[in-house]
Amino acid sequence: MNRVVIIGGGPAGIASAAYLAQKGVKTILIERSNRLGGRAASFFYSRMEEEVDYGQHVLMRCCKSSLGLLRLLGQEDSVSFQSHLCVPLTDGERRGKIESSPLPGIFHLLPGLVKYRLLSLPARWRAMRAGLSLLVGDPGEVSFGSWLSSHGQIEEAIETLWDPICVATLNAHANHVSAHMARLVFQRGFFRRHGADIGLFTRPLSQIFASVIPFLEARQGRVLLRTPVARIITDAGRVCGVETSNGELIETDVIISAVSLPDLPALLSTCMAKERFLKRLSGIDYAPIVNVHLWFDRPIVDEPFIIGVRSLVQAIFDVSAAHRDGGKHHIIISQSAAVNWIDMPVTSIVDILLAELIKLLPEAREASLIDSLVIKSRSATFVPEPGADALRPGLKTPIKGLFLAGDYTATGWPSTIEGAVRSGFITAASLLAH
Ligand SMILES: Cc1cc2nc3c(=O)[nH]c(=O)nc-3n(C[C@H](O)[C@H](O)[C@H](O)COP(=O)(O)OP(=O)(O)OC[C@H]3O[C@@H](n4cnc5c(N)ncnc54)[C@H](O)[C@@H]3O)c2cc1C
Repeated sequence: MNRVVIIGGGPAGIASAAYLAQKGVKTILIERSNRLGGRAASFFYSRMEEEVDYGQHVLMRCCKSSLGLLRLLGQEDSVSFQSHLCVPLTDGERRGKIESSPLPGIFHLLPGLVKYRLLSLPARWRAMRAGLSLLVGDPGEVSFGSWLSSHGQIEEAIETLWDPICVATLNAHANHVSAHMARLVFQRGFFRRHGADIGLFTRPLSQIFASVIPFLEARQGRVLLRTPVARIITDAGRVCGVETSNGELIETDVIISAVSLPDLPALLSTCMAKERFLKRLSGIDYAPIVNVHLWFDRPIVDEPFIIGVRSLVQAIFDVSAAHRDGGKHHIIISQSAAVNWIDMPVTSIVDILLAELIKLLPEAREASLIDSLVIKSRSATFVPEPGADALRPGLKTPIKGLFLAGDYTATGWPSTIEGAVRSGFITAASLLAH
C-alpha cells in the first residue's frame, strides 16, 4: 500500500488514520472544516469566551473501542466515568434513580428498580419481567414499543423508564426503534454491571481529537484541515485520487471515505457503478438533536446531569460541574428525537424550555439567565428503525480501492462515537489484512 487517503475527520476517520499510522502506513486525513471531531466537534463561542461542543456527548463504559482510541492518542483522562451507573430522573415533584448495585449480571439493577419511585410497584415488577425476557431472546426487527406492549409494559412504564433510555441512547422513541437494536443497548450496557456507567468528556471535543495531528505527523502522516474534497477520481472503476475544492489533485490507490452518509453521494458524483449502491443507502433515515446552551449567574442543579420525565425537557447537563473552568454555570438541555423542535424559532425554543426547566428544578427560579445559544443538528444520527440494520453497508464499495468507515456502516452498533470508531478500526484492520 502506497499511502491511504482518509476523507473526513470525525471519529471514524480519526480511528482509521490512527490505526493505520501506528501500523506504519502513510496516511493523509482530509477534513473540510477547520476542526476535527465531525458531529462530535467543538468551537470557540466568543460571547462567553468558552469552547463549546456542538452536541453534548456521553460515552458508556461498554464503548471499548472509543476508550481504546483515546488511549492510543494519549487522551484517556479526557473522559470521566461514574464509579457505578446512576441516572437521576425528575418530574419536578419526585426524583428517582436508575442505579446499579453490587449484585452480579442483570441483577445489579434489581435493588434500584425496586426503589424506582417514578413507577408504581406493580409496574416495577412487570418491568423486571420484561427486562428478563429481553435478556433471554432476540425479539428481532419489530418495533420496541410494540414488543414492550406485548410484554405487559403500560404507558406509565414506557413514559418513565423505557422511552427515556431509548431516546437518550438511540435518539428515537421506543415506537420507532427496532427491538433488536434496543436489546443490544440493554445487553451491552445496562444489563452488565458497569457496562452503562456514564462517562462525560472533561475537555472540549475538538481539543481531544486534535491529538491525532501530532500522532500522525510523528508517523509520516498528515492532517489537512479546511480542505473539502470535491470528488473522488476513478479510472476504469478503480480509484486513482481525490480532487479538493481548490482543484488540487492528491493521488492514491486506496481511499477510506469516513464522511457521514448524507455527504457520501457528493463525493461519488462522477464515479460509475454507484447508483444501485447509493439507492439502497437512501433508505436510511436520520433524526435531529437540538442542544440549548444556557449560562446562569448561579448553580441550578446539584447533579452533573439529570433526566426530565413527563416534561418537555429531556436531559439537563451541568457542563461546568462535569469539566471546564467552573463558575460560569453552563447548562445544556439536550433534546433528542427533536422533530418538534428542529424548525422552531430559537427564541421560542429557549422560552419554552426555560419555563419547563423551572418546573423541574426549583433552583432555576431564582437564577438570572446570562446568555443562551441554540444548536440544531438536523441529521444528527440515523434512526435504527425496524429493517434499517439490513440497509447498512459493509466496508467495501463497487469502486475498487474505495472503502467505507462511519457510524452508519454495518457494525451492529447504533449511530454513536463507538459505532464510528469501531468502523474505523475494522476498515483499517481489514485493509492491512489484505
Ligand atoms: C447533537 C449530537 C449529539 C450526539 N450525542 C452523542 C452521544 O452522546 N454519544 C455518542 O456516542 N454519539 C453521539 N452523537 C453521534 C456521534 O456524534 C456520531 O455518531 C459520530 O460523530 C459519527 O462519526 P463519523 O466519523 O461516522 O461521522 P462525522 O462525525 O459526521 O464525521 C464526518 C466528517 O467528514 C467531514 N466531511 C464531510 N464531507 C467532506 C468532504 N467532502 N471533504 C472533507 N471532509 C468532509 C465532515 O466535516 C466531518 O468532520 C451525537 C451526535 C449529535 C449531532
